[in-house]
Amino acid sequence: MPNYTAPTKDIQYVLHEVLDISGANTPGYSDLDAEFTEAILDAAGALASDVLAPLNRVGDTEGCKLENGVVTTPTGFKDAFAQIKDGGWPGLDMPEDFGGQGLPYVMGTAVGELFSAANQAFTMYHGLTHGAASAILVHGTDDQKATYLPKMVSCEWTGTMNLTEPHCGTDLGLMRTKAEPQDDGSYKLSGQKIFISSGDHDMSSNVIHLVLAKVPGGPEGIKGVSLFIVPKFNINTDGSLGDHNGVSVGSLEEKMGIHGNSTCVMNYDGATGYLLGDMNKGMRAMFTMMNEARIGVAMQGLAQAEAAYQNAVLYAKDRLQGRAVTGAENPDGPADPLIVHPDIRRNLMDQKSFIEGARAFMLWGASLIDAGHKGGDADAEGLISLMTPVLKGFLTDKGYEATVNAQQVFGGHGYIEEWGMSQFTRDARIAMIYEGANGVQALDLVGRKLAQDGGKHVMAYFDMVKTFCKSADALEMQEFTTPLKAASKDLQAAGMYFMQNGMKNPNAALSGSYDFMHLFGYVSLGLMWGRMAQASLKALANGTDDPEFHKNKLITARYYMARQLPMTTTLLKRIESGADPVMALSAEAF
Ligand SMILES: Cc1cc2nc3c(=O)[nH]c(=O)nc-3n(C[C@H](O)[C@H](O)[C@H](O)COP(=O)(O)OP(=O)(O)OC[C@H]3O[C@@H](n4cnc5c(N)ncnc54)[C@H](O)[C@@H]3O)c2cc1C
Repeated sequence: MPNYTAPTKDIQYVLHEVLDISGANTPGYSDLDAEFTEAILDAAGALASDVLAPLNRVGDTEGCKLENGVVTTPTGFKDAFAQIKDGGWPGLDMPEDFGGQGLPYVMGTAVGELFSAANQAFTMYHGLTHGAASAILVHGTDDQKATYLPKMVSCEWTGTMNLTEPHCGTDLGLMRTKAEPQDDGSYKLSGQKIFISSGDHDMSSNVIHLVLAKVPGGPEGIKGVSLFIVPKFNINTDGSLGDHNGVSVGSLEEKMGIHGNSTCVMNYDGATGYLLGDMNKGMRAMFTMMNEARIGVAMQGLAQAEAAYQNAVLYAKDRLQGRAVTGAENPDGPADPLIVHPDIRRNLMDQKSFIEGARAFMLWGASLIDAGHKGGDADAEGLISLMTPVLKGFLTDKGYEATVNAQQVFGGHGYIEEWGMSQFTRDARIAMIYEGANGVQALDLVGRKLAQDGGKHVMAYFDMVKTFCKSADALEMQEFTTPLKAASKDLQAAGMYFMQNGMKNPNAALSGSYDFMHLFGYVSLGLMWGRMAQASLKALANGTDDPEFHKNKLITARYYMARQLPMTTTLLKRIESGADPVMALSAEAF
């Protein structure tokens, strides 16, 4: 069975030595010193390794069950959920007014990585609740906040997001679920939603569904969509639970992975719902949840990669096959361990340089959310809005690739369920699809985010890379800043190509949008590796009690610059080839 150990040291390094989250850098949180964050990560890490990770396989093999309309989760999930609740983990970064612990989002993200790596399917139950609670926090009335938030922050009640219908996932303007106004100000919802994660289960006393629906007579398409709160059990005026609402589970989806999460077909048959936010502005309200969920899904890419990588490293050190090409390294044994072979090294270094870069990228993104949402920094808000599709698309694509690479280290054993490596790839695969498939993230990036606010945020990004390269002018930084500058130029050239060609021929921009999302991802990890190299050089110069850690960071940074970042040149070439190679073939010829 796979092992999982929380990478606390690495997270601490990013939080304090790279991002410097303590003090002034995290608005409103002056006490985030390294000792405090380490205590949190240690406690979360223990829960992840000892409680959640052992249930990962159980969840995969048992799955959820639907009997007589009731969904049950795999053995052990209920107890583990009680432990998560008792520890106050779901409300770690939620406001104290509603029972949360008021810590910054960046800490919630750091802890989220540990839980998600240990057991993605399980973590989705409280992850989605967090997103639903955030939407109520931003768009709810005072009454709605008082009714739902304390119970959702504690996870006594969990939450879901209901967008998808059988005939529409990306194109939500086609939605058919309707909400008919009632005299008492509530609505009656009717329709069917599919693929609803954590749609029902046996771990909380109520489930609060956030449901997109159309009020009859409203505007056509997406402009007529509103968001509604639909509790599984109606809530009495004194806050106690009333009768069962008109919502039921039609069936559980059979799927490729995340078997421990209940993916439900939800039927709404005249269910009572309450408008959340403004009428016909449902997408805006749902985006509060979706943007948060996209960051959470980005992290799933990183988390599954980390869990798979840890096991690949153990295997590569243990499995004896062949001899090192330069001479035996384990002369007393029948063969050398796999890790001596350059191709296995290449594979592991690809994973390692992705994972550590991705972790810094994730936590940097989370710190922008703190600065934007909590610190009122509009530039940070703009930047994270630009970066969200890059985080989601790039980290889930590359995270999945990393799990496949980790599986490859095991040879045939990686394909055999007993070793648990196939679960990482199966679980990681969904992250490329839900919360907006990655092709749609690329569309959002190129079609919307690049030009947002007159292109201000992408210009700010380029300036940030330039300023970093200028400020990191010490001679020993040049091996990192020179490739970063070149890669950033490729990204700017791609942006320029879209500006010059996108208006005349939108297909030219959209044929390159996926490559652009990856190009942006490579440069962003390049920036993170530059910042990590700078932090480690500083630590070594100042005298550190762990020089090996920092030297290894520099070795990995060099690998990224030499072997990963040059991908930007190929991606730029693909983008500049325009629409013709992509669009020339007639649909009939496929
Ligand atoms: C396990 C699981 C859990 C899920 N959980 C939830 C949940 O909790 N709540 C919820 O509401 N939904 C959920 N979903 C649904 C998920 O978000 C959708 O499946 C996803 O958004 C894609 O929608 P679709 O499946 O209808 O694909 P489609 O919209 O039909 O898209 C098919 C393909 O076409 C591409 N495409 C579509 N339009 C365009 C375009 N204009 N340009 C370029 N490419 C395009 C997409 O990128 C995709 O690759 C879940 C799905 C699964 C499988």
